[in-house]
Amino acid sequence: MNGRYLIRTFGCQMNEHDSERIAGLLEQDGYAPAPGVDEAEVVVLNTCAVRENADRRLYGALGHLKPVKEANPRLRIVVAGCLAQKDQGRIQERAPWVDVVIGTHALPHLMDLLRRSQVEGPQMDVREYTETFPSALPAARHDPFRAWVSIAVGCDNGCTFCIVPFVRGAQRSRSIGDVLAEVQGLAARGVIEVTLLGQNVNTYGRDLTVAGSSRRPLFATLLREVDRIEGIRRIRFTSPHPHDFTPDVIEAMAECDTVCEHIHFPLQSGSDRVLRAMQRSYRRERYLDWLARIRQAVPEVAVSTDIIVGFPGETEEDFRATLDVVERAGFDSAYQFQYSPRPGTRAATMPDQIPKEVVQDRFDRLVALQEGISLARNRAQLGRAFEVLVEGDGRRGDSTQARTRTNRIVHLPDAIEPGSFVRARITSAAAHHLRGAVIPERAAVGV
Ligand code: SF4
Repeated sequence: MNGRYLIRTFGCQMNEHDSERIAGLLEQDGYAPAPGVDEAEVVVLNTCAVRENADRRLYGALGHLKPVKEANPRLRIVVAGCLAQKDQGRIQERAPWVDVVIGTHALPHLMDLLRRSQVEGPQMDVREYTETFPSALPAARHDPFRAWVSIAVGCDNGCTFCIVPFVRGAQRSRSIGDVLAEVQGLAARGVIEVTLLGQNVNTYGRDLTVAGSSRRPLFATLLREVDRIEGIRRIRFTSPHPHDFTPDVIEAMAECDTVCEHIHFPLQSGSDRVLRAMQRSYRRERYLDWLARIRQAVPEVAVSTDIIVGFPGETEEDFRATLDVVERAGFDSAYQFQYSPRPGTRAATMPDQIPKEVVQDRFDRLVALQEGISLARNRAQLGRAFEVLVEGDGRRGDSTQARTRTNRIVHLPDAIEPGSFVRARITSAAAHHLRGAVIPERAAVGV
């Protein structure tokens, strides 16, 4: 065995998935997971440039690692992810005890960089282009029964608040054959749920052609193909962009048995003026229209969203327009974000940045509204029975956590093997979770 490693992941599912790849590379080289920093020979901070205070969190974590490194000079510290891509050489200037800075396109070179850092000192690879698709790398997955599958990296949109196009580059789709081969391999190893990942899944395939023709593979085609793979019982995907949404995706959602009745559909703002400033090229009515069409075709569908509060120039009237859309949309859940400027984005230099206390006030009002809606939607599930997939122990350790196809968390009192499907009847509801009781198998017939 080579040694032990520890990975700390910040940010989104893309990063979680990249961390699985980083773990896979390390494990292939003989490393094993470490229980804590003190036992690790390699510590990887897989960073996010999107979320608030990303810099502060990274340099805070690096500050904590400095004395650990001084006490154990054999420790290798790696900074990976979007912030590594964005800040590049600045990271080792500010924290010279960092051994490797590795950007989002350079993951396949991690082991090489680690080895070179031992001989030559600090290394950095922040190349601008992905040569090997991250999904072609080995992965050490947390869950034996659920997996993320990357279908595209990068993004061709230019939302003015977003750093992703700068740190992940233009969209590059993975060939449909590659994606299917990965999912087939996962299914053969017992994976029953896959989440297809892309910054904008609707534009999947725009940069590809189908071999032997001028056609482009489409996301709806991909959904239908994955649906056919034996052993896969649940397909999820994130995220579609309302601007690029197409009816064939709704049809595929409605027709494919394994595609779950849940969609994450980022609104960002309910004001057309703000959407324009964000360079989100759909408008509120169009958004609501898509939602109505999705709900009509997939009646049980649950909808989650992202909303940014306090974008530069957002007036009280704009904010009320967001509240209005939130009420009309009746989201099952929402991730609300307080806008804060991300250096490198266009929005960061826009005039009329909103004072912090105004942003906070609007955020609190939005959260209060959405909590009420989420609670009402969860209460509507009381007494109903669902097939749930058991995920493991609940956070407090006094329940088992399971999930409905609609992505609702259900806590069950019984200890049940993770990865099993059971039927559960909902007995109580809170805004962010449900509680339920397992229906014994014989009684489950006909529920
Ligand atoms: S669609 Fe917009 S918010 Fe999403 S990754 Fe692309 S640029 Fe960022």
